[in-house]
Amino acid sequence: MNTSIVAIVGRPNVGKSTLFNRLVQRRDAIVDSVSGVTRDRHYGKSDWNGKEFSVIDTGGYAIGSDDIFEEEIRKQVELALEEADLIVFVVDVEQGITPMDTEVAKLLRKVKKPIFLVVNKVDNAMRENDALEFFNLGLGEYYTISSINGSGTGELLDAMAIKMPEPEETDLESEELPRFAIVGRPNAGKSSFINALIGKDRNIVTDIAGTTRDSIDTKYNRFGFDFNLVDTAGIRKKSKVKEDLEFYSVMRAVRTIEYSDVIVLMVDASRGFESQDQNIFWLAEKNKKGVVILINKWDLVEKETNTMRDYEAAVRKEIAPFTDVPIIFTSVLTKQRIFKAIETAVAVFESRKKRIPTSKLNDTMLEIIQQNPPPAIKGKYVKIKYCMQLPTPTPQFAFFANLPQYVKDPYKRFLENKLRDIFDFNGVPIIIYFRQK
Ligand code: GDP
Ligand code: GDP
Repeated sequence: MNTSIVAIVGRPNVGKSTLFNRLVQRRDAIVDSVSGVTRDRHYGKSDWNGKEFSVIDTGGYAIGSDDIFEEEIRKQVELALEEADLIVFVVDVEQGITPMDTEVAKLLRKVKKPIFLVVNKVDNAMRENDALEFFNLGLGEYYTISSINGSGTGELLDAMAIKMPEPEETDLESEELPRFAIVGRPNAGKSSFINALIGKDRNIVTDIAGTTRDSIDTKYNRFGFDFNLVDTAGIRKKSKVKEDLEFYSVMRAVRTIEYSDVIVLMVDASRGFESQDQNIFWLAEKNKKGVVILINKWDLVEKETNTMRDYEAAVRKEIAPFTDVPIIFTSVLTKQRIFKAIETAVAVFESRKKRIPTSKLNDTMLEIIQQNPPPAIKGKYVKIKYCMQLPTPTPQFAFFANLPQYVKDPYKRFLENKLRDIFDFNGVPIIIYFRQK
């Protein structure tokens, strides 16, 4: 686990969303517009000085009375405290300290996690002086920034990066067990699946104690496979915060997914693949995790000759362009394909670690490239000379060419599909780079 979760908290209009956009540069953001709040919540992924992190803008409530504000913001802060690794508390230099800021500061002072007090809207030097009053919040040092013009955000990121763990040295030879996360919407059948998997006798081998955070791994031995289940029901009930389930499930999903190798996404067949499912799938892809989709409660679906084929095609349409993912039709109730589901998750885990020897890769790929070279652009021909799999924890490939900048996405996709056909990366996101030879 080496991705930190950063939560942005603060009252409405201080500039949280603006800061969020700066931090992730809108690169990989999703907007959780399904939640029943007046404002969207944002989740994004970014990196700074080699440290990867996720940012969650806890959103805000644009309308409502001050009482509502206070209650909602308290919840928001409590959630952040529980789930995040770093907390960015944003205040507004134009407004100065408000009673709500004082309230939030009081909550934050009790916490052991790194807290960054950020005074926003310091757009010019004069406002630096105005920022001084924020020492009175009792949170110590603060960072002055202007989210709108970007000044100060580099220093803030530098300071945050120092508090994030070093990137993991990934030892590919190590006998690390697969970490599976069973995720999906409420009622998809996750708990039933986990119970079916681990059985009444609960073949728990050990509880692996977490280091800096709660233990969320539990080791199992089932059907001849050893694996860890991440974030099973037992951990869920630890939460103190019950109210904001929607947000909680987003936070939880983010954390669970980042901690896992393979995401088993359970979908309720009687409801179909919904936008929440898509969000989870997207998160898994962005985090380069393996994915297996289970269409559960298959027993409830009335079947005709092509029902399964048509259903599968509809799901693949929803997940395009990442369609090379196993989809398994299960019924936890009748135990249909439960073993298959785990077997597939193990296979995806193995594929995700797969290393293709350079000679084999070049033998096959260069031949394909010769038969289907990239299209010439403005009379210039791209020559691909060599390729290799990079020594990264998940599959990434570099192709070396004379004019790498001329290779466009469709051709990259063509190569990716060939790699998938030949070497079988079903369920595994892969990345292709072009580099100058
Ligand atoms: P949120 O409710 O905390 O997410 O705040 P927003 O990001 O929506 O920003 C609220 C308002 O403050 C918007 O009108 C922004 O344009 C403005 N704002 C955000 N950051 C800055 C800043 O650094 N300087 C100034 N002057 N305005 C800002
Ligand atoms: P969770 O919220 O995702 O953990 O879902 P649960 O495991 O609690 O299941 C929700 C409901 O769906 C329960 O009533 C289960 O008995 C039922 N359920 C789970 N899997 C199946 C299945 O494969 N078929 C049918 N018919 N019902 C199921």
